[in-house]
Amino acid sequence: MECIFCKIIKGEIPCQKVYEDSAFIAFLDIAPINHGHILVLPKKHFINFFETPENVLADLIKISKKIAKAMCETLNTDSFNLGVNTNKTAGQLVPHLHFHLIPRFSGDGLKHWSRKEYKKGEIEEYGERIMREIENV
Ligand code: AMP
Ligand code: ZN
Repeated sequence: MECIFCKIIKGEIPCQKVYEDSAFIAFLDIAPINHGHILVLPKKHFINFFETPENVLADLIKISKKIAKAMCETLNTDSFNLGVNTNKTAGQLVPHLHFHLIPRFSGDGLKHWSRKEYKKGEIEEYGERIMREIENV
């Protein structure tokens, strides 16, 4: 499977790279939520979070922490969001697993997600259903 990020990894499409090793690459998002917004991804093509092996995710988290630290230091902030859009309904456009590291600044105008409420008894129902399902995964 070839996707736009596979082409970036192969050097067929340019990117503004900030990190690379034998298994991972990080580059600036071309349409940043805030300037300095970074995408971190495995070079191997996994279509989403679910399809990515745990050992790859573990290494990706370690690298992302290091890169996030450097991003925050560089941009003089202590705040960032880590995001992983998983599948279309969640806004995943590129089918190659990637973490978004989004630097945050006071007054940057971004709003946190809007919130809903549970009706009486619903929080217990949702929690118990998910807890039971975890035993089957
Ligand atoms: P997602 O919606 O989670 O799949 O995120 C895909 C991200 O890739 C978006 O934030 C895009 O702006 C970014 N993107 C798409 N094409 C490129 C590219 N050629 N270089 C850098 N970032 C890109
Ligand atoms: Zn790919």
